[in-house]
Amino acid sequence: MDNCIFCKIVAKQIPANVVFEDDDVLAFKDINPAAPVHLLVIPKQHVATLSDCTEAHAGVLGKMLALAPKLAEEHGVAVKDDGNGGRSGGFKTLINSGPDGGQEVYHLHLHMVGGKRPWRGLG
Ligand code: ADP
Repeated sequence: MDNCIFCKIVAKQIPANVVFEDDDVLAFKDINPAAPVHLLVIPKQHVATLSDCTEAHAGVLGKMLALAPKLAEEHGVAVKDDGNGGRSGGFKTLINSGPDGGQEVYHLHLHMVGGKRPWRGLG
C-alpha cells in the first residue's frame, strides 16, 4: 500500500528498530512506547484491520501470536515461576481495530507491552 507507514517500514523506506523478521512477519519497537517494553508485530502483507481478516489470514495471525513468547523471553518480560508457587513478569498483547477500537495506523498490528508498571493506556 503506497501510503501505509508500516508498509514503508516493511520495504525499509523508513527506519525502524526491527527486533524480528521472517518472510511473513516483522516486529519492531513502538516509536512512542506505552511501557518499558512496547513492540509491534505486523504481517508483511498489507491488511488494514483485524476486521478485514478471513480464514485465509489464520496462518499469519497464528505466526504473529506465536512470536510473542520468543519476544517476551528476549526482552525480559516472559512469565516466570516465582519459586513460591506463583508467577512473576508478563506482558499484554492487544490488537486495536477501527475507530471505536482505538486504531490509528491502518496496517494490522499486534501490540506487545510489558515491563514494570504503570503503563499508559493504549488507544
Ligand atoms: P494507538 O496509537 O491508539 O495505540 P494503534 O493501535 O493504531 O493506535 O497503534 C499505532 C502504534 O504505532 C502507536 O503505538 C504508535 O506509537 C506506533 N507507531 C506509529 N508510527 C510508528 C513508527 N514509524 N515506528 C514505530 N511505531 C510507530
